[in-house]
Amino acid sequence: MAVTEPAPVTLPLAHEGILRRQALRESAARTYARSLPIVPVRARGMTIEGADGRRYLDCLSGAGTLALGHNHPVVLEAIRKVIDSGAPLHVLDLATPVKDAFTTELFATLPRELADNARIQFCGPAGTDAVEAAFKLVRAASGRSELLAFTGAYHGMTAGALAASGGATDVRVTRLPFPQNFRCPFGVGGERGADLAARWTEYLLDDPKSGVPAPAAMILEPVQGEGGVNPAPDGWMRRMREITQERSVALIADEVQTGVGRTGTFWAVEHSGIVPDVMVLSKAIGGSLPLAVIVYRAELDLWQPGAHAGTFRGNQLAMAAGAATLAYVRENGLAERAGTLGARMLARLQALAADHPSIGDVRGRGLMIGIELVDPEAEPLTVTTENGSAPPPDPALAAVVQQECLRRGLIVELGGRHNAVVRLLPPLTLTDEQAAAVVDRLADALRAAELSPYRRAAAGPTR
Ligand code: PMP
Repeated sequence: MAVTEPAPVTLPLAHEGILRRQALRESAARTYARSLPIVPVRARGMTIEGADGRRYLDCLSGAGTLALGHNHPVVLEAIRKVIDSGAPLHVLDLATPVKDAFTTELFATLPRELADNARIQFCGPAGTDAVEAAFKLVRAASGRSELLAFTGAYHGMTAGALAASGGATDVRVTRLPFPQNFRCPFGVGGERGADLAARWTEYLLDDPKSGVPAPAAMILEPVQGEGGVNPAPDGWMRRMREITQERSVALIADEVQTGVGRTGTFWAVEHSGIVPDVMVLSKAIGGSLPLAVIVYRAELDLWQPGAHAGTFRGNQLAMAAGAATLAYVRENGLAERAGTLGARMLARLQALAADHPSIGDVRGRGLMIGIELVDPEAEPLTVTTENGSAPPPDPALAAVVQQECLRRGLIVELGGRHNAVVRLLPPLTLTDEQAAAVVDRLADALRAAELSPYRRAAAGPTR
C-alpha cells in the first residue's frame, strides 16, 4: 500500500511473460488489454510505470474513474485511516460512520433541489448495476415498463442475470435520436438538428399511433462517452426536462462518466441547470475503488425492501476513498479547472484539425475530449453536418494513432460508433505542462500514423 516505498520494478522479461500468459489465459472478451499491451506496476497522478520500466501519461484514467489520478495522497490517507481504525471492510448495506460520511459529502455536491429531498440506494459496485436499479425504481414508482434511450448511448453490460433468477425482464426501450452535431441524423447539425431531435421525441410521445406506450423514464448521458464524446446542447437538455416533466416521465441522468467535475461543473447536468429525477453515479465517486449508487427524488421511493439487492453494497474503503475525492474536487475547484484546461486543449486540437484533414471533428466538454478521425479521400457519407458532408470514419487510422501514442508514452482510449474517436479522459489534477505534453504527443502520433503503412490494415475489434 505504501507508495513511498515501492517494490522493485519487474524486469522487462517478466513483463513479456505476464503479457504472454494474459493472452493465453484471459478471455477473448478482454478489451483494453488488447490495444494497451502494458503491465502497470506503479502509478502516481497521471503517470503509470510499466514493468518494462517505461512511463506513460495516462489519459484513460480507469475509463474516467480517476478524478484525482492514481494514488492521490488524500485517497491513500482515507483508505489507510479506515484500515488502521479496525472498522469492518465489508458490511452489506448496514449503516457505518464511513458510509454516513460518504452520503453527507455526496449530498453536499448534488443540485440543491434534489439534495433537499433525496434518497440514495447503494448498488452493486458497477455503473451498470446502478442503471438496473434506476430502471427498477422508476418502473415500480410509475407502474409503467417502457423506457426511452438515445442512439449512441452506453449504460452498461448486464443482461440475463435477473431472467435466469426468474425475475421480470421485459424491458422495452424506444431509441430516440441524440442531438449530435457531427454526422447529425437530420443532416443539419447545430441548434436546428437538436431542435428536430427534440421534436421527434415529443411527437413520438404524443402521437397515439406512434407505437410508443407511455414510458416509465427517459435515460440520457449529458455527454455521451463511449458513444464518441457527444455533448448534449444545454437547450436540448432543458427541452428533455420539460418534455418528461409535462408527461410525468422520470428523467434519469446517467452521470457515471460525466460526474465529479469531469465536464467543468461538479455534475454535468449543472451546465443546463436541469434537475433530474434520478442520477446514476459510479466511477469517480469511489475514488478509484468500486462504488455505484443512485440518488433520486424521495417521492419515487415506492419500491419494496429488497427490490434491488446485492452482496457488495458496503465497500467501506471505496466509500472513504470516494468521500475524500468528492471533498477534494469540491474544495479545490477542480471542476472549474477541468473546464478551463479542457477548453485550452480543445482549442489546440481544433488548431491541429485545421492542418489535418484526417481529423473530422474535435469535440468535448471539460476534460472529456474526443477527436474523430476520418478518411478524407473516401466518398463522403450521405449524412451531413452543418458544415457540409462528412467523410467516413477511419477506425484503422485511429488504431494506429493509439499505438503511436503508446510508443510516445501516452495512453489514450478509442470510442465512438466505429471506434474512430480518440478519447481523452485525463485526471482533473493534470498540470498545464502535462496538458501541453498530451496534445504534443498526440499531434506527433497523428503525423506518424498518417504516414504509416499499417494504416489500412490495423482496424481492431470494435467494442
Ligand atoms: N454509464 C456510463 C455513462 C458509462 O460510461 C459506463 C461505463 N463506461 C457505464 C454506465 C457502466 O459502468 P460499469 O462499466 O461500471 O458497469
